[in-house]
Amino acid sequence: MNIHGDWITALGAQTILRALSAAGFQALFVGGSVRNALMEMPISDVDIATDATPEDVIATLHSAGLRTVPTGILHGTVTALTDTGSYEVTTFRRDIETDGRHAKVIFSQNIAEDAARRDFTMNSLYATASGLLVDPLNGLPDLVARRLRFVGNPDTRITEDYLRILRYFRFHAIYADPNDGFDADVLAAISSNLAGLETLSTERIGNEMRKLLGALDPAPAVNVMAQTGVLMRILPGSDPKFIAPLVHLEGGAPRSWLARLAILAGGNVQDALRLSRVENATYHQLRDDMASTKTAAALGWCHGTDMAGDILYLRAALFSAALPENWQDDIHRGTIAKFPISAADFMPDLSGPALGKHLKLLQQRWLQSDLTLTRAELLS
Ligand code: ATP
Ligand code: MG
Repeated sequence: MNIHGDWITALGAQTILRALSAAGFQALFVGGSVRNALMEMPISDVDIATDATPEDVIATLHSAGLRTVPTGILHGTVTALTDTGSYEVTTFRRDIETDGRHAKVIFSQNIAEDAARRDFTMNSLYATASGLLVDPLNGLPDLVARRLRFVGNPDTRITEDYLRILRYFRFHAIYADPNDGFDADVLAAISSNLAGLETLSTERIGNEMRKLLGALDPAPAVNVMAQTGVLMRILPGSDPKFIAPLVHLEGGAPRSWLARLAILAGGNVQDALRLSRVENATYHQLRDDMASTKTAAALGWCHGTDMAGDILYLRAALFSAALPENWQDDIHRGTIAKFPISAADFMPDLSGPALGKHLKLLQQRWLQSDLTLTRAELLS
């Protein structure tokens, strides 16, 4: 079986793979790129696996004229910089010790060992430089059936690394057949390992939730996360009941992951998910204004096209309502509107905080009028 794609024939990738194999090593594409190519889905990053040690990778790639960065050299990862992008080149590994968060790995010469430490069978697929599929664990039938299956025993694999609980829901949301339910054995293993979630860093949890909530339809996974108790552990106070209505309204055109978060979570989640300051500000604006009475135009003026749309979708989902008529035109009217008053209109009579307060009041009136009050009306 052969796979195709620009990312396979890209000069950088070909240079890396050819240099390593000319030096007598195995080197293959692995993981997400191979999986997504087979599923005809877009490819994000291209990872390469090899039996060369990191030192050999560095020496070989330097001889081929490439620059490298020793990003995770202790774990076997070297980043190769090429004209067609950067590639993570990781030495085959085998776990010798795991504690649920960190794994002690040793390098391996054996691709089957490398495949066996990966999480899911659809993530354990490799491809050669010419795109020939290499499938040490026979993961292809699972991928073709869009069946998300752990490599080995789910309970064992989860206790090795509790992040796999969240990865299971993330990959299920993005890659599994939506008509397939969730595997009972996996859910049992998850339920009996909930305490392990407490050991994960909030940064890793946040990264998984970003991707999960960015899926076309995260609702089934989120609901099962709630049923198994996972959701309450990572986002206490959240309520999954509005996420399916939101996704339904979106009709296959997903809004931002933060909009999904805003309708799911309760209160402050910045620490729980290690949100950036910008993400946190957006999250709170979405939540404040989904509960406000601002018109579509007012939202457009305050937040711009995308966030204003997110807020209207959130309201419609929360109140089981349709989107307001002509909402896109109204948002647009708001985005191009100019507040007809400026500080100069009140100087020198007003200044400092009094001026600020007065302007704010007029701005509120203007927003409440759906941006229709004129300059004269506001000044009178
Ligand atoms: P994407 O980049 O689209 O999120 P991906 O499959 O490339 O998907 P990564 O998190 O980038 O996912 O990981 C790359 C590969 O490394 C995975 O396909 C999997 O084989 C392996 N892997 C990553 N994290 C784990 C883990 N916690 N346990 C076992 N294997 C893992
Ligand atoms: Mg990846």
